[in-house]
Amino acid sequence: MSRRFAARDVALYLQRRLIRQLSRLAAARDRTPPVVPLPVDEVIRGSRTPLALVRLLEGRSNAERESAVARYLRARGVSFTLHPFSSDEGSGENFAVDLGAGERVLLLAAHHDAVPGSPGANDNAAAVGLLLSLIERLAAASPTKLRVRCVFTAAEERGYLGARNYVGDVDVGELAGVLSLELCGIGDSLVVWDAEGETPFLRTVSSALEGIGLARDASYHVVGRIPMFGSDHRAFVPLGVPAYGFTLVPSANAEALRQFVWSLVLGAIRHLIRRPVPFDTYHTPRDRRGTLEPAALALALRALEAVIGATT
Ligand SMILES: [Zn+2]
Repeated sequence: MSRRFAARDVALYLQRRLIRQLSRLAAARDRTPPVVPLPVDEVIRGSRTPLALVRLLEGRSNAERESAVARYLRARGVSFTLHPFSSDEGSGENFAVDLGAGERVLLLAAHHDAVPGSPGANDNAAAVGLLLSLIERLAAASPTKLRVRCVFTAAEERGYLGARNYVGDVDVGELAGVLSLELCGIGDSLVVWDAEGETPFLRTVSSALEGIGLARDASYHVVGRIPMFGSDHRAFVPLGVPAYGFTLVPSANAEALRQFVWSLVLGAIRHLIRRPVPFDTYHTPRDRRGTLEPAALALALRALEAVIGATT
């Protein structure tokens, strides 16, 4: 690693820490009343749209979120493998559901934890709701030449701790690609991120999105590394697996978002005071189900089904 790179990494690390600190302070000052979670059994008995399933996790503690996912899967008769982990950094449980048949595996990840103090609706109950909906749909019509693995990870907010432990349990050779779903509940434009360089999987994703009528640099974007953000897919990168973030944003805010995610410290502080959607609620007590858009969730679901249909 060159010295210039090392200095840049240190700057990015400090920037991330500063932003986390500032977010925490902002959250502590926020007077938004806490979400009163719906009893898990009521959610299980209720509608299974992604938006309804957000309530499985919204407003619960991380321990409750984790057990709610397992309880939901058991109650719905979905078989899954349990991947518990425990280390100096913390402990938790990842859950993996395999659907379909074939040698290749498309892995879709959604973390079930949230930052303390945030109800965690867009980050990341929306993504969990999407995968749970997808499981229902795939159970009814499973792919015959591909296995889709939906992985619900723990402790993403602690440096992808759950995913970093989970990668030890995967057979790297069978993975066609990984998408980590983050912030999928607000917006009309898809962003595939951390996508540096062409890979067959990236080409598959792009052509799948174009196949459902999305246009590159308009209704979907492929971008490289985003300094302030990361997600579970990063745990797969050292294995040599093509692995990207999958997020929705409002296209009307494209320019503000670009500045927000790329700005260095001063810009970041300025933008923290007035953050563009969807980052205005990100990691705050205002990240609630009421801010989510059914059309965004529907687009994400359609896009994921297209990627499943195109992956071989
Ligand atoms: Zn997240």
